[in-house]
Amino acid sequence: MSLHQATMRLSTIRERLRIGGLFGQKLPRHPEPAGRDRGAELCALLAAPPFGITDLSDAALPLYDRALTHRSYANGGEYPAAAVEDNERLEFLGNYVLDFIIADHLYDAYDLPPGEMNRRLQVTRNTKLANIVLEQGLGIDSAIRRKGLALTDSIIADAFEALIGAIFLDRGLDVAREVVLAIFEDEIAECDTRRNYRGRLQEYVAQQDLGNLAYDYRQTGPGNCPVWAARVTVGGVPLGKGEARTKQGGGDARGKRGARPPRGGVRCNRSGGTRPSPSSGAGGYGRDEVDAAVSRAIDLIGGMGRFVAPKELVLLKPNLLQGQEPERCVTTHPAVVAAVARLLVGHGCQVVIGDSPGAGIVYNETNLRRAYARAGYTAVAEETSVVLNYDTGYQTVSYPEGAVMKQFSIITPAVAADAIVVVSKAKTHMWTRMTGAAKNLFGLIPGLEKPVFHFRFQDEYAFGRMLVDLNECMKPRLQVMDAVMAMEGDGPQAGSPRKVGVILAGSDPAAVDTVLAQLIGMDPLEIGTIRSAAARGLIDPAAVRTVGDDPADLAVPDFKKPSTYTGGGAGPWRRVVLAVTQRFGKTYAPRPGVVGEACIGCGKCERICPVHAVTVTESRATIDLSRCIRCYCCHEICTEHAIALSRGLTGRLLARLLG
Ligand code: SF4
Ligand code: SF4
Repeated sequence: MSLHQATMRLSTIRERLRIGGLFGQKLPRHPEPAGRDRGAELCALLAAPPFGITDLSDAALPLYDRALTHRSYANGGEYPAAAVEDNERLEFLGNYVLDFIIADHLYDAYDLPPGEMNRRLQVTRNTKLANIVLEQGLGIDSAIRRKGLALTDSIIADAFEALIGAIFLDRGLDVAREVVLAIFEDEIAECDTRRNYRGRLQEYVAQQDLGNLAYDYRQTGPGNCPVWAARVTVGGVPLGKGEARTKQGGGDARGKRGARPPRGGVRCNRSGGTRPSPSSGAGGYGRDEVDAAVSRAIDLIGGMGRFVAPKELVLLKPNLLQGQEPERCVTTHPAVVAAVARLLVGHGCQVVIGDSPGAGIVYNETNLRRAYARAGYTAVAEETSVVLNYDTGYQTVSYPEGAVMKQFSIITPAVAADAIVVVSKAKTHMWTRMTGAAKNLFGLIPGLEKPVFHFRFQDEYAFGRMLVDLNECMKPRLQVMDAVMAMEGDGPQAGSPRKVGVILAGSDPAAVDTVLAQLIGMDPLEIGTIRSAAARGLIDPAAVRTVGDDPADLAVPDFKKPSTYTGGGAGPWRRVVLAVTQRFGKTYAPRPGVVGEACIGCGKCERICPVHAVTVTESRATIDLSRCIRCYCCHEICTEHAIALSRGLTGRLLARLLG
């Protein structure tokens, strides 16, 4: 996106928020605690440096008031919830404004490669923002209105971003830029020396007169996906070694992700998937049988020690979606999460369970708490002593090697972790046909950023290419899939539980997904992530081999496919026709419709729709089919089963013709 396009986009967001009614409200909107003059408090805060806004109008005060109002205050019960608005929408805007201004400044004031600019842009991550607010004495922390919550980095950072958003709306981009640069200029400049590990080492070695500093490089990965190992010696004595996807990164000998073990199984097209015996008994999720199945699956591929080391911080990444009761089979079953958690803890790892709930759900602490509790993970954390993540920050992770994405916004616990272990759920998916290992990592993208990807990658195969980039960027070390009770039919939310009785484990998401596709009777190459991985030479689905039980003995050939699925035994001509009709034919693709009596007007579908085709008025959603791009996010997010999918007459005829 060019700077001009980015500015236009910010203007559009500003207009939308204006229309949303940020201005023209009266202050206060609810009674203030006795003795507290909120207007004077805000005026004093904004008049001080670095803000320097001395002529605040009464009309603008509610905007700043909202920027410093945490949702706990808005929903704290002291005042009617509807009467007080929180800062979440402003925070969304301010986050983009902040990143835009700093990116623009980095481009203008420094002559740096993109990777280095990305590193410096990380001054906007949550913990850093909170430090800046406190160290520079900006006064924002004491002006935040919240209720019953300790002041966390996340609350401070959110309020700070919201305030930047408010300044942008009230004063425009130039004033916002002045304020941001006054706060960040030194921070950005200092980033260089603090992040330049090689430079710092060189300086230290020279200062201490330790001798000659040398790096020796060795390529360990195959030509199409190299891994660089670097050994550092000082005066001929080995000092350390590291691995990364680039020579530069290997030389840094520092990257947590770069230091992860290479995924030899995938590159060589050996097997990534293994399966233990089917579980049985009460729903298949009895503790003993799940523990045994999970242990066996992991032992068959080399044991936990092959993937993680003691003392490492591991992010355990389930499929949380928006949190549903385990028996609905929407989320990874807590028994499987607990079994993997116990193995990791037993191996001496520190474990954090984390995920960003499904698209359209705001990534905040309240929603996380609710989702964890519903999915049964709160009990898992209590029982296994692992930690549930409540840090709602996220950071930009650069991935210059990406085929379609050069960087991602990734939730903080994933960036902070030494290793990621995925515990996915086997389900059908109306859009991507099936969701398992590779798609699970989409949960590392913070909640409301997800629709942007649906808008950008409107074709499921393009979406698959993005997901392969994401997996290659974050390199989860181990995959464990809960296919004990899978979801068939119109998943990932509205399908039905179906017993498969299998736990899959492997190191490579595409290999594990290939085995799942075969188990449930789908053609692996019709799954976007598998097809993309195959096109890049990361896997040959036909060459995937398993250890343990024979997939043929466990297959469920009559597993019900989603109503959008058209695969299975397709000849070449049919694939071509399908590709054309699916990609270009809205008439062919099933269209979403609202089941009036089931809709409760919750608005989740409106928030998630990447093209704003859904409107909720008078507690009822309506869909503008002329705008709809058939991504089915609304269907995925609706917990009331109030979005139905159906084909028009032409679509039905084509579907019949194509078999
Ligand atoms: S269709 Fe579903 S998600 Fe949309 S408003 Fe109605 S109940 Fe909520
Ligand atoms: S209305 Fe259409 S474009 Fe919007 S979320 Fe639903 S399927 Fe996607």
